[in-house]
Amino acid sequence: MKRDVIGVSACLLGLNCKYNGLHNLNFDVIDHIKGKEVVLICPEVFGGLGTPRIPSEIQADGRVLNKKGLDVSEQFKIGTLRSLDLLQAAGCNKVILKDGSPSCGYKTIYDGTFSHLKIKGMGIAASRLLEAGFEIIDLDT
Ligand code: SF4
Repeated sequence: MKRDVIGVSACLLGLNCKYNGLHNLNFDVIDHIKGKEVVLICPEVFGGLGTPRIPSEIQADGRVLNKKGLDVSEQFKIGTLRSLDLLQAAGCNKVILKDGSPSCGYKTIYDGTFSHLKIKGMGIAASRLLEAGFEIIDLDT
C-alpha cells in the first residue's frame, strides 16, 4: 500500500519556529494528519534564519527583505531547496502550509510594505513546491 506522507509547516504543529519565537498550532491540521506520516518543514529556519528573527516580506521586484532592509532572498532560496529535498526524499507529494507567510503562504502574503496589508500571492517555498508538483491541501490556515 502506498504511504501517505504529508509535509507540514512546522509552526502549524506547535513548533516555536515563527519569526517571533511562537507557533501557529492548528487543531484542524492535527485532525487531518491523524494516522499519516508527517514531515515537518520550516523553510526560513532551514535557510539559516534564526528564531526569533526579524520578519521579512516579499517585495514587488521579487526580492525578500527583512524589516530592517536586509536582503534575505538567498536564505529563503536555500531554505526552499532544503525543504523540497527533504520532502522528496521522504516520498511526500502533499503539503499543508501556513498561509500568509513569505515562505509558506499559498493564497496570501503581506504586500512588502510591513504595514500588515495582505495581498493575493504565494510565498517563496509554496510557489516552488507547487511548481514541483506538490498538492497544497487548503485547511484555511
Ligand atoms: S517559514 Fe513556514 S513553517 Fe516556518 S514559521 Fe514561517 S510559516 Fe511556519
